[in-house]
Amino acid sequence: MTVSFWLEDAEDGIRRPSLDGSCTVDVAVVGAGLSGLWTAREVLRRDPSRSVLVLEARTAGFGASGRNGAWLIAGLGISPGELARRTSPEQARATILAMRGALDEVENTLAEDGIDARLRRKGNLRVARGPHEVPAMERSLEALEQLGVADGFELLDADALARRVHIDDARGALFEPYSAAIHPGHLVRGLARSVEAHGGTIVEHTPVVDLTPRRGRARPTVVTPTGTVSADAVVLATEAWTSRLPGFERRVLPVYSLVVLTEPIDDERWAQIGWQGHELLASHRYTVDYLSRTVDGRILFGGRGAPYHFGSRIADRYDHHERTHAGLRQQLLEWFPALRGVGFSHAWGGPLGMPRDWMPSFEHDPATGIGAAYGYTGQGVLATNLAGRVLADLIVHGDTPYRDLPLVGHRPRRWEPEPLRWLGARYLQVALARLDDRSAQRGRPPSGRSLAERLVRH
Ligand SMILES: Cc1cc2nc3c(=O)[nH]c(=O)nc-3n(C[C@H](O)[C@H](O)[C@H](O)COP(=O)(O)OP(=O)(O)OC[C@H]3O[C@@H](n4cnc5c(N)ncnc54)[C@H](O)[C@@H]3O)c2cc1C
Repeated sequence: MTVSFWLEDAEDGIRRPSLDGSCTVDVAVVGAGLSGLWTAREVLRRDPSRSVLVLEARTAGFGASGRNGAWLIAGLGISPGELARRTSPEQARATILAMRGALDEVENTLAEDGIDARLRRKGNLRVARGPHEVPAMERSLEALEQLGVADGFELLDADALARRVHIDDARGALFEPYSAAIHPGHLVRGLARSVEAHGGTIVEHTPVVDLTPRRGRARPTVVTPTGTVSADAVVLATEAWTSRLPGFERRVLPVYSLVVLTEPIDDERWAQIGWQGHELLASHRYTVDYLSRTVDGRILFGGRGAPYHFGSRIADRYDHHERTHAGLRQQLLEWFPALRGVGFSHAWGGPLGMPRDWMPSFEHDPATGIGAAYGYTGQGVLATNLAGRVLADLIVHGDTPYRDLPLVGHRPRRWEPEPLRWLGARYLQVALARLDDRSAQRGRPPSGRSLAERLVRH
């Protein structure tokens, strides 16, 4: 079964060997997703003399980086308003600006390294689907205005939105300029090749099964079935799988996000839908929906809803959940009734890492020699670039211009032990889905006071 359309489409025929025996390197990176690959590339850019080894359990891009919804967006799991409330308006503003800078960084790197990741910087539309979603849309603009970072954002009423794209029951949208659609397969596979071109090594089918922090003069090590690697610095870039690593079990909750993809759509249907601007689309549902238009004229529709698995279990078979996939196909038809009868070519999914507070962490502890980037909560395609630069700064220079961002050195509160974790996660999944359904039926926004809403405030 295919991991994703993206990896299928970006197949480059490159097969990398596994680790063959023990070795010592300057930097060992665990995980060849975007976090690991950006970190490796950025370390080598800062100091080409360092030896950098990336160890990947499966193949480069196998994780969320090769399966996502194509949203390269200057946003985080945590909203600007909530970030300001938890930290300060200055820190929230600095974080937003750093993320916007990352968008330019990615664009420049792709040009520099010759990676054609089909980047289209067309912004995104957060659509209010029904009157109950209008207040959430207005609140997000207000929060940005209060922070003084709303330049280029625009509230579109239903007519203005309909001139761009015809979405059933749309009451308006917030246009957000700082985002681009990307081909995740070409991005992650291209970045892997770029790491190698910069002098790094990637080994595949090499799972790290144990790690030891620095002890006195003994360097940190990672253990794999085919050898042990000791390094000056170890970087964990394993997102959802961080929950499988010793000592990190309760840092993130693996949550499954699932995706369906249509066949290429004919011109007649596109004429009915509009969407000639190729913006990314989403609504304001708690249960999350995200849409993108592929370069070859398909529509991707993704969302959450697949159940959390007891004990933070992750398994290939969980990438498919027929009830959730069927629900996503149905939702797409509700957005665009003109698609009735259109074929779906692909369905896939994958785990993302959700920390207790929805805030990613970029950390490097020189005392243990272990660093990590994780906890993107489904918004990591762009944030991984910032993570990679921060970690490379810390490893190579011992400091970073981003040191004051709240994500740097951040340690989330740990998730509860089982069975509490399972009970809590399942309660929230069911309660939030009900909340979405009920507000849609009543045409009224959720009160904001229910237990579920208070627990997931972000
Ligand atoms: C279906 C889906 C849709 C998404 N859509 C979007 C989107 O549109 N926009 C957005 O911003 N974000 C999205 N996300 C989230 C985004 O893709 C991730 O935040 C981002 O890709 C994280 O990159 P990463 O490198 O940290 O982790 P990953 O890409 O998950 O990479 C982790 C890697 O580590 C490897 N690994 C794990 N354990 C070990 C081990 N023990 N030893 C060696 N290797 C190991 C894995 O095989 C994997 O390759 C989505 C996620 C999913 C699942």
